[in-house]
Amino acid sequence: MSKLEIKDLHIAIGEKQIVKGLSLTLNSGEVHAIMGPNGTGKSTLAKAIAGHPDYSITGGDVLLDGQSILEMEPDERARAGIFLAFQYPSEIPGVSIANFLRAAVQARMADGEELDATGYYKRLYGKMDSLKIDRKFTSRSVNEGFSGGEKKRCEILQMAMLEPKFALMDETDSGLDIDALRIVAEGVNAMRNENFGALMITHYQRLLDYIVPDYVHVMYDGRIVKSGDKSLALELEAKGYDWVKTELASA
Ligand code: ADP
Ligand code: MG
Repeated sequence: MSKLEIKDLHIAIGEKQIVKGLSLTLNSGEVHAIMGPNGTGKSTLAKAIAGHPDYSITGGDVLLDGQSILEMEPDERARAGIFLAFQYPSEIPGVSIANFLRAAVQARMADGEELDATGYYKRLYGKMDSLKIDRKFTSRSVNEGFSGGEKKRCEILQMAMLEPKFALMDETDSGLDIDALRIVAEGVNAMRNENFGALMITHYQRLLDYIVPDYVHVMYDGRIVKSGDKSLALELEAKGYDWVKTELASA
């Protein structure tokens, strides 16, 4: 059992305060969704937790199993078990997916520990089979000429191989077609177990048709303003975000 605690987190980009006191606890085994209008700080939250250097934490803390991760470098956070989807959106011509994933897995191992090639391929092919990914896929160069769906497949395979404790999936609103959403959903659903937790960030409810979250949070203006179960996502879809704003104004 692991726990990721976000405590009264404040995040700024330059002088601008974007996240203004956000608290959320994720336990492994749980899937949480954060929804909210554009510009509300959802991606900022995910990037800051992963350790992106452009985002400064101006208050609060993020604890993984009771230990603050804020002083850790991004790669240390990854090794500690935090995975940010779309970490590697760029194309890497000449580097096959198989070799890329191997380097990623090796990088997560302790110093002096060597990856056993036979065992690695066995595990890789096992994951690919469970995710229904064709074996030919791993000989292609990372993201080179990939469709949106193929990029997602590469990312999900990376997540499956790294077996993070917590995945932060920022499904940015642009250009994710239904196929890509399905790939993400199937990947996350295949990984759902008591040792894995996910934070799904999305603007639209439709991702949550495929991944049924245990909790739904609405983020507005840098804070979580409402939390509930999956029915909250449906309510948002029906009533829109203005409903939340109106409720806040009258509170
Ligand atoms: P969301 O993901 O909820 O749509 P973001 O976290 O992307 O929101 O953005 C929150 C706010 O931060 C927006 O006002 C956006 O313009 C601003 N912002 C995001 N990234 C940067 C950046 N790199 N530099 C300056 N402002 C940024
Ligand atoms: Mg975003």
